[in-house]
Amino acid sequence: MIIDELEYYQAVDRAIYAAELADWLPARLFDIHTHAWLPQHCRQPISSERVGLVFEAESVSREELDEAYALLFPGKTVEYCVFGMPLTVIDREANNAYIAAQIDRQRVYGLHIPGLDDSAEVLAERIRAGGYSGFKPYLSYVTWKDLEDIRIIDFVTQSQLEVAHAHGLLIMLHVPRNTRLPDPDNLRDLEMIAARYPGAKVILAHGGRAYSRPLIDRALAVVAALPNMYFDFSNVQQAEVVEAILARMPPERVMYGSDIPVATVRGTMFMLNGQRVAITRKPFPWSISSARPGQLRCTFMGYEQVRAMKTACERLGYTAADVQRLFYDNARALIDSAGRP
Ligand SMILES: [Zn+2]
Repeated sequence: MIIDELEYYQAVDRAIYAAELADWLPARLFDIHTHAWLPQHCRQPISSERVGLVFEAESVSREELDEAYALLFPGKTVEYCVFGMPLTVIDREANNAYIAAQIDRQRVYGLHIPGLDDSAEVLAERIRAGGYSGFKPYLSYVTWKDLEDIRIIDFVTQSQLEVAHAHGLLIMLHVPRNTRLPDPDNLRDLEMIAARYPGAKVILAHGGRAYSRPLIDRALAVVAALPNMYFDFSNVQQAEVVEAILARMPPERVMYGSDIPVATVRGTMFMLNGQRVAITRKPFPWSISSARPGQLRCTFMGYEQVRAMKTACERLGYTAADVQRLFYDNARALIDSAGRP
């Protein structure tokens, strides 16, 4: 079980869900961004990875994922696109095989975590054999550069792009650098991908990690004009950022994602003078908490994100049908199109 404090859940989280979210959310959700991996896939503790992470779970099994959805969204049906935890401390091949075993292409879809040296032929065969809808590349595998020097094209390889372009596959992209989506190298690489590999469907995870209005506005000036770029809203907890993306992007290219296990952490994240800060109910090395245990009345980061999405939708006058497109139809249509060139 990746959600703890079940009495607190009933008293606080469930009450927030009932009062603010249950009636507003559609009956069916599609989560385009979620993770699963098993304890036996971990070669070392997750916390020993060089990349900074904002969660506590050392593993999330398929069963725990379904339990988490049942607690986060009681009464709703959740379909999802799941992938492994793309870290060097994880056995990538074993994790990929576990994901492939969950895929039914009805309710559960999945992405393949590629190796940086895999050829286009190898990748195309992996996608076919596993029934995946695309790739989840990640910067952690670029171990020979400082984190802040890593470019998108260092881990989104030409082989991945060729296969994704040829087969109309998704690429779930976590953009690098503390300068985030509007970083000039990031925008240059996205423009190159759009020009040369228009068949690839690139999802900018976490709203491109541009968790403030100035960051997202600068990025959208470029990204909104690129025809094969999409956004998921996982971890975006600022209504003004959601609102900017919804206002500027074509309506079918925005979708819900949870980034479980992150959505199950009780707390909130925001930008402070260019730095991402997390406040959490429990104390972690990577967060600010109270010196008195259990004092902070936090709810799930996943709820803070849906609250931000709700505020943005209300400001933009979204109807129930618009909300359903955002939380279900868009992702479902995109995943159905994956594999079609
Ligand atoms: Zn993620």
